[in-house]
Amino acid sequence: PSAQAVRTVTLFPGDGIGPEIAGAVKEIFRAADAPVQWEEIAISTKNVKPGEDLIPQAALDSVRRNRYGLKGPLETPVGKGHKSLNLTLRQALSLYANVRPCVSMPGVKTKFDNINVVTIRENTEGEYVGLEHEVYPGVVESLKVITRQASERVARFAFEYARSNQRKRVTAVHKASVLKMSDGMFLECCRRISKEYPDIEFKEALIELCCGYLVSQPQRYDVLVLTNLAGDIVSDLAAGLIGGLGLTASLNKGEHVVLAEAVHGTAPDIAGKDWANPTALLLSGVMLLREMDLHDHAERIERAVHQVLQDAQCRTRDLGGTARCSEYTQAIIDRLGTA
Ligand code: NAD
Repeated sequence: PSAQAVRTVTLFPGDGIGPEIAGAVKEIFRAADAPVQWEEIAISTKNVKPGEDLIPQAALDSVRRNRYGLKGPLETPVGKGHKSLNLTLRQALSLYANVRPCVSMPGVKTKFDNINVVTIRENTEGEYVGLEHEVYPGVVESLKVITRQASERVARFAFEYARSNQRKRVTAVHKASVLKMSDGMFLECCRRISKEYPDIEFKEALIELCCGYLVSQPQRYDVLVLTNLAGDIVSDLAAGLIGGLGLTASLNKGEHVVLAEAVHGTAPDIAGKDWANPTALLLSGVMLLREMDLHDHAERIERAVHQVLQDAQCRTRDLGGTARCSEYTQAIIDRLGTA
């Protein structure tokens, strides 16, 4: 299809602030003439009975069919008996890599003003395989599973991402000094794959040193590739550096699908008040546009967001302003013309 053919994208608005911020994304995409038509599916995990699937089959089938999806936050029911929401999605859609660009926003004051780091986290194995047992009262074993196949897959994705996003360097973050076999194999896979990408510089970093540098000299890093637990922690650390939850976009890459989502939750404390910041979900949508090769639309929306944040007249409460979600959305739409 040509770049301008209309694409159908699955949209899960989600719970809490989800419908408000998803509404903002739809309005802005429409105003930007993005050739996207939404297949909107209202899934809610609120009333699911224990034992039932949190995500209905029809919702998963929709993403599989359309190949692209945007997901708002979903409430995770407290208590046992449910298969985790994220686990369900990851397994059902084979979402093997999570990508989170942490890039300083113009005009948003944080400790550093030139953060530009992308974390790429292996999403299917490591410590999160859920293999834990008590071998003896008071003694628990937890297994970390690392496979060559998943490590090579995420490493290759990191280099491909770097190449197609004009990035210069990929750093493999590890603890192979202690976890010689598991992180050792992950690191060895990254080294091997790096040879296929001579145009991208390859570096290695011990995880604790990487964290120290991220909060003191974040400019050292460009693209980071990490195992599951390490990626979970370091990607939140990196999000904190750019001003937090309301701003950070992410994208999950699967074998056949791409599912973008904001990293924050349902924000029950402000839901329904028109106070939510839609930036994270909107920029997740922008990542999706780039995946669909709709680069002009992506640039235009991103520039409008940056301009609104830069002139600081219209900010949501989480960024110290007083603007409502709807006012901020309108400010972005007003900027689309000049962006
Ligand atoms: P949260 O991210 O919902 O909220 C944490 C704080 O950040 C709150 O004060 C909230 O008001 C604020 N916040 C978050 N997003 C914001 C936004 N876009 N604009 C303005 N302020 C924002 O985290 P929580 O309170 O720990 O979790 C609430 C619910 O969300 C739980 O049910 C949890 O399971 C779920 N959750 C879902 C996802 C997901 O679907 N990906 C992720 C995290 C949490």
